[in-house]
Amino acid sequence: MAETRAVPSHQARESSGHEGRRPGPAGRSDDMGIAEIRVHRRELAVVDGPYRVGANSFDHLDSTVVELITRSGLIGYGETCPLGPTYQPHHALGARAALAEMAPALIGHDARFIGLAHRVMDDALTGHAYAKAAIDIALWDLLGKACGMRVCDLLGGTAVQRVPSYWALGVCEPDEAARVAAEKQALGFKRLQVKVGGRALEEDIEAIRKVSRTLQPGVRLAVDANRTWTVADAITVSRLCADDVFVMEQPCDNLQETLALRGQVRHPIYLDESIEDLRALDWAIAHGAAQGFGLKVTRVGGLSAFRTIRDTCDAFHLPHTCDDAWGGHRPPAAPGGRLDRGALYPPALRPPEPDPNRGRVN
Ligand SMILES: [Mg+2]
Repeated sequence: MAETRAVPSHQARESSGHEGRRPGPAGRSDDMGIAEIRVHRRELAVVDGPYRVGANSFDHLDSTVVELITRSGLIGYGETCPLGPTYQPHHALGARAALAEMAPALIGHDARFIGLAHRVMDDALTGHAYAKAAIDIALWDLLGKACGMRVCDLLGGTAVQRVPSYWALGVCEPDEAARVAAEKQALGFKRLQVKVGGRALEEDIEAIRKVSRTLQPGVRLAVDANRTWTVADAITVSRLCADDVFVMEQPCDNLQETLALRGQVRHPIYLDESIEDLRALDWAIAHGAAQGFGLKVTRVGGLSAFRTIRDTCDAFHLPHTCDDAWGGHRPPAAPGGRLDRGALYPPALRPPEPDPNRGRVN
């Protein structure tokens, strides 16, 4: 997996004498001090690719996996995998450069104090939440291992044992989109997303209508423009597709343009890319800019920030989903296996029906 390794020289010295040690229980507080940080590059192939989002097309993605190794030999894993360099103001080389910038400051930090670790990272580098997310996730993984608890339980406990997923259809010909939509519903998917944008608006409208006509009872549809529509485009689509039931996901580029749609469109608006942090969420809620949120763990800076955002959405009874742009979905392991995203949103706010299949997200 480790095509690339980025360990500052003094970190390598910190790690000497610890490499090869088997993980053991954390006893003394200094056992949980971070001794070494390893950063790996991993190229991920897009299954059934290329995957087209807006004007961009992907057949592989560049993921970054972080290993945090404590003095006791425990290892925590985190990952960040931008969806190319234009989906968000994130990119893979930037993530690894940011990690190299922050890593020296984290050496010696007690991994159990995650909030303080964020202060250390913020003192070393402003912004770059998507890079800090990989460290944050690895710290939660370490904390779970040190406590003998699953990360999902540290985050509040699992509300459900199985988490529903959805299938995202990349931008494609309207007839092909309808064919795939019907095929995935036959496989059991109860939630679909169709990508639009980066082409003539008429073709987007045709795709929405054709996919909408395939929907079986109980199946929900999100139409995701990934910031590509103008305000006028979104209003036009909503009016011409007034009889089609769907959520309009991130139709326009920014919060201000999204707010301009208020009262002008017939469909609920879900914000995705625009919710980069708690401040953006707070602004959107305060202004009534959206009726729900599609959230990404690494975009907002990791599980710590996501927990606050989850609880804020919950407090305002706003539907929200938890996923990530891409990646190997290497979860915080901890005892018992993996992060259960059921811990990240309560049952009342999750998509309606469980689905054993796994879909692509973003
Ligand atoms: Mg989206």
